[in-house]
Amino acid sequence: MKENVTSEKAPHPRRLPRGEKGFTHEKRRTFKQKGHPMPQGVERKGMLEAIKSAVQGITRGHGGPFGACLVRGRSVVAVDHNRVLQCSDATAHAEINVIRAACRKIRNFDLSGHALYTTTEPCPMCFAAIHWARIDRVIFGTRIADAARRGFNELAISSRMMKSKGCSAVRIKGGWMRRECEELFRAWDRLETKRVY
Ligand SMILES: [Zn+2]
Repeated sequence: MKENVTSEKAPHPRRLPRGEKGFTHEKRRTFKQKGHPMPQGVERKGMLEAIKSAVQGITRGHGGPFGACLVRGRSVVAVDHNRVLQCSDATAHAEINVIRAACRKIRNFDLSGHALYTTTEPCPMCFAAIHWARIDRVIFGTRIADAARRGFNELAISSRMMKSKGCSAVRIKGGWMRRECEELFRAWDRLETKRVY
């Protein structure tokens, strides 16, 4: 299963899917000049960690095929996957798990300066938690609609709608490493023991 996730040729970090707004070389330089660290390769590393954890969750039957990774600068602060079934906890989404772990670790609810990588777009509950934790950026692969198509009981509210309606300062980038993230759904589809919720 892991081989299926990692065997596909990965896109170049700067080569973003068509139509997605990303950090071009020029934008990355501007971003740095404004004092925000945007180390090269970190964006790829953050999502790869999230994918790796999601694979573990699928293999162990912990929950849906979702992983998340919280990064500050070049450092991975927390990585986890969905544990809804393992913990019998409807709120144990990957994003919530990493936020809780990071807050415990640094003993602070305020995660300003952190970026959260998640294999699928945050649901409204998770986006609200990201906002409350004051996380700077959220970077996701597949969309809520992709999860809803698999039968997950998603609310049809995108993270961009949450940001816009709630006037949140959280910055959003979607479609990052989408192909690799989609492979998680395919691995999930092949599972005979899968359980949607
Ligand atoms: Zn969620």
